Amino acid sequence: MAEPLRPATRAVHAGRPPHDPDQPLSTPITMASTYVAGGDREYGRTGNPTWQAFEAALGDLEGGRALAFSSGLAAVSTVLGLVAHGATVVAPRVSYNGTLLQLADLESRGRVVTNLIEAEDTDGFVKAMDDDVALVWLESPTNPSLELSDIATIAAAAHEAGASVVVDNTFATPLLQQPLGLGADIVVHSATKLIGGHSDLLMGAVVVGDDALWEVLKGRRDLQGAIPGTLEAWLALRGLRTLHLRVERAQANAAELARRLADHPAVAEVRYPGFGAMVSVLVAGGPDAADRVCGSTRLWIYTTSLGGVESTLERRRRWAHEPKEVPDNLVRLSVGIEDVEDLWADLGAALDGTAG
Ligand SMILES: *Cc1c(COP(=O)(O)O)cnc(C)c1O
Repeated sequence: MAEPLRPATRAVHAGRPPHDPDQPLSTPITMASTYVAGGDREYGRTGNPTWQAFEAALGDLEGGRALAFSSGLAAVSTVLGLVAHGATVVAPRVSYNGTLLQLADLESRGRVVTNLIEAEDTDGFVKAMDDDVALVWLESPTNPSLELSDIATIAAAAHEAGASVVVDNTFATPLLQQPLGLGADIVVHSATKLIGGHSDLLMGAVVVGDDALWEVLKGRRDLQGAIPGTLEAWLALRGLRTLHLRVERAQANAAELARRLADHPAVAEVRYPGFGAMVSVLVAGGPDAADRVCGSTRLWIYTTSLGGVESTLERRRRWAHEPKEVPDNLVRLSVGIEDVEDLWADLGAALDGTAG
């Protein structure tokens, strides 16, 4: 029997048209609002061959079946919509603010009860499991604190209590972590970030192992209409084809920068989980000094979002809706694929400038 293909090979090849004469190598952009009657798609809201190529590739890498959504938050909202009225959702206290805001909104309307736990407090998650818990939401590493959750242990405890487990895998990407293999039921992505990888699209995805659950989620997407644009799906798939190369380079850069930042006198603390493209630093001079760093780099771009080929940074607490537990001097670095010496020269100079 042939050996299973390795992830880098699958990132390049999964979801392509068959190797038949005159087939294009890449699935083209199909612009269609409707299809001739009698097939599976019928209407543009219920399916598109370009989305399906992206879904086949991402599903292959995550080890499940994927569905593309119009944004990461559309994917989050569709998954949270699975929770029965009044049931409990357990989630990390400090994680992506859009997810926390959706949970707070649902709770304020009596739709769900939320129980927020520190991401790294595995015992806390395990002890939180009772009959009321319907869903355990994890994000690992977390945005922007870069904390890690013990997915396998928490998933086992959740399943014993009859709850489902979701992992937002945006920061790890399917190349560095496959949550379905660790026991999660659902994976969520903001494909806007590393999967797209070029800061030129918004898209989200959900990946599940269970066919019946896939049908339920597909039904919700058909009905609610949170579908991606065709061009976005095509760009996201193009991004996915080089994900392994970009992650490898960005991760090497991030690890080197984390090492150097730890020795810089203007840095009070470096948070780097040991893998991935994201590094967070606490700037010694406080929030004003952190703002000066963001405002004085020339190569690093001061912007929100992350996961592009270009290195970017931002002080997260500049946003009023960022959790208050995030230190006000935390600068989140999204490390790109440039030459690390150029990145260090620019960042180091910006940090030098905060003294005094
Ligand atoms: C950006 C982000 C989201 C939301 O994705 P959008 O594509 O911006 O809607 C969800 N989770 C994490 C971890 C993110 O970084």
